[in-house]
Amino acid sequence: MEKMIAIRKPSDMHLHLRQGAMLKTTVRDAAAWFAQAVVMPNTLPPINTPERLAAYRDEIFSLAPGFKPVMSFKLYPGMSASAVKAMAKAGALLGKLYPAGATTNSEDGVTSWHQIKEALGAMSDLGLVLSIHCEKPDAFVLDREYKYHREFAAICKAYPDLRMVFEHISDRRSIEFVASLPDRVAGTITAHHLLLTLDDVIGANMNPHTFCKPVVKGPKDRDALQQAAFSGSSKFFFGSDSAPHLKTKKESGAAAGGIYSSPYAVPLMAELFEQQGQLKKLENFISVFGPKFYGLKPAKEKLVLIKKESTIPAVTDGIVPLCAGKTVSWSIKA
Ligand SMILES: [Zn+2]
Repeated sequence: MEKMIAIRKPSDMHLHLRQGAMLKTTVRDAAAWFAQAVVMPNTLPPINTPERLAAYRDEIFSLAPGFKPVMSFKLYPGMSASAVKAMAKAGALLGKLYPAGATTNSEDGVTSWHQIKEALGAMSDLGLVLSIHCEKPDAFVLDREYKYHREFAAICKAYPDLRMVFEHISDRRSIEFVASLPDRVAGTITAHHLLLTLDDVIGANMNPHTFCKPVVKGPKDRDALQQAAFSGSSKFFFGSDSAPHLKTKKESGAAAGGIYSSPYAVPLMAELFEQQGQLKKLENFISVFGPKFYGLKPAKEKLVLIKKESTIPAVTDGIVPLCAGKTVSWSIKA
């Protein structure tokens, strides 16, 4: 008989759905595997008004009525407490801090947390989550995340009730850092940071499809991330950071950062957890710890995976997905 596992339908705690024609693709792919997802606000223009939040949420709903988008807003320098209140009233559960220049569409981001003190105070009072792309943009690329620890720690100290998420951990030093902070601080981990190292980006021919921010790091970092994912600690949970760019935009002299993992992240994670003898830990990591941290319910609906190979396409809707062309040992049960 086929080997099979049934887990609560996963929750993706960090997802870029993009806009326009691409939104149809990303929502379809996410909704196939995930019951809900934290939707990132770095669209153009950004989600930083109640009207834009409502319009974006409605558009996502109309494409996949069964799929729950957990809405965020993008913090901007000088954002007022009343603006934060308006976003909360519109349904946002989190505010996202992008250091200026750290990643896609972040040129208008925050240079120092002192620029958003009023907003952070309001978020803390309202019980909103602060989500941070943790990189210091002017530091050496492989140290950018580590060099952000000081800023993160300062915010954590200044707002003793604020829940904070250290997004897409890539550096083993950040695992120790997040573990050392109070329970109101958690970290997301992506599929690509659990599977890839810099060898997959520049070890042979330079591969722009494995290029992302923060950049994937060394084998010791990947191993430490895996240990955190397998640890059973509710401080570490899945957030794909799936962030598509068209193949043409990737294969250029200035390749955009971002990896599209939504369509195969779940079977790739099942494969990894099984190979490492940790399959029992998968459900908490990918379906339970994340929603619980946000005060949301894990999905009741089950996702059934069967041990049956599927091949990840080389290109899907003009995008080269994570592990394109490879075989993965699990499939969704039809
Ligand atoms: Zn992201």
